Amino acid sequence: MLFDTHAHYDSSAFDADRHELLSSLPEQGVSLVLCPGSDVESSKACLALAERYSFLYAAVGVHPQEAAAQRPSYLTALRSMLSHPKVKAIGEIGLDYYYDDGIPHPVQQAVFRAQMELAAQHQLPVIIHDRDAHRDTLAIVREYPTVRGVFHCYSGSLEDAKTLVGLGYMISFTGTITFKNARRAPEVIAGIPLEHIMIETDAPYMAPTPFRGQRNDSGYVYRMAETIATIKGLPTEEVIRITTENGKRFFRIAEDEA
Ligand SMILES: [Zn+2]
Repeated sequence: MLFDTHAHYDSSAFDADRHELLSSLPEQGVSLVLCPGSDVESSKACLALAERYSFLYAAVGVHPQEAAAQRPSYLTALRSMLSHPKVKAIGEIGLDYYYDDGIPHPVQQAVFRAQMELAAQHQLPVIIHDRDAHRDTLAIVREYPTVRGVFHCYSGSLEDAKTLVGLGYMISFTGTITFKNARRAPEVIAGIPLEHIMIETDAPYMAPTPFRGQRNDSGYVYRMAETIATIKGLPTEEVIRITTENGKRFFRIAEDEA
């Protein structure tokens, strides 16, 4: 059974058919889903979904693109959700330097550090968004050696991936690895142990080939398992089994919870 470790089911892209879609996932072979928050409101929405669907879990956090819009009380709001049994991580958090006119880097860094601190205090793993900010993201990660995390929708080099694996981090892949022009991903997947790999859709974004450009959902997460299996020369079933085990171990989802 598949574990989609990153899907934004609070997104308005699912407003028309959220319940039908989520209800259909178990019969599509998806046994676990983690919904990461993008800001306080979205974290609350993910948690509400986690309360409704037994196979869905939540992470709470402020995405770097929302870093400037947060009220000063955002940390208090996040902290109040951490004791909920279905909150399994802080995320998604990190740095996004893609937009030249985006959120000022020092603002992003402060919000990222504050949430790494929160993760350290509460011994929760983190889900990291790193877009065009590899050097600064890695530097901040190194400041918190007790925090474990996953680099979601990984786009960096094999060398950086090996460094992260050495720090105990996980690497997670989306539909971008299925694109014809995916250059670095196959090299990264081949070069790191399967025990450090997780799979995700990042729905509603990043739909895999041949669905590129359409709305994505967890039903497509098997495509990432297939692609990784081809690159590693393993049966798809084994990649599904191990990536699901990896996700359960990483998010500390016990057998009796899943
Ligand atoms: Zn995301």
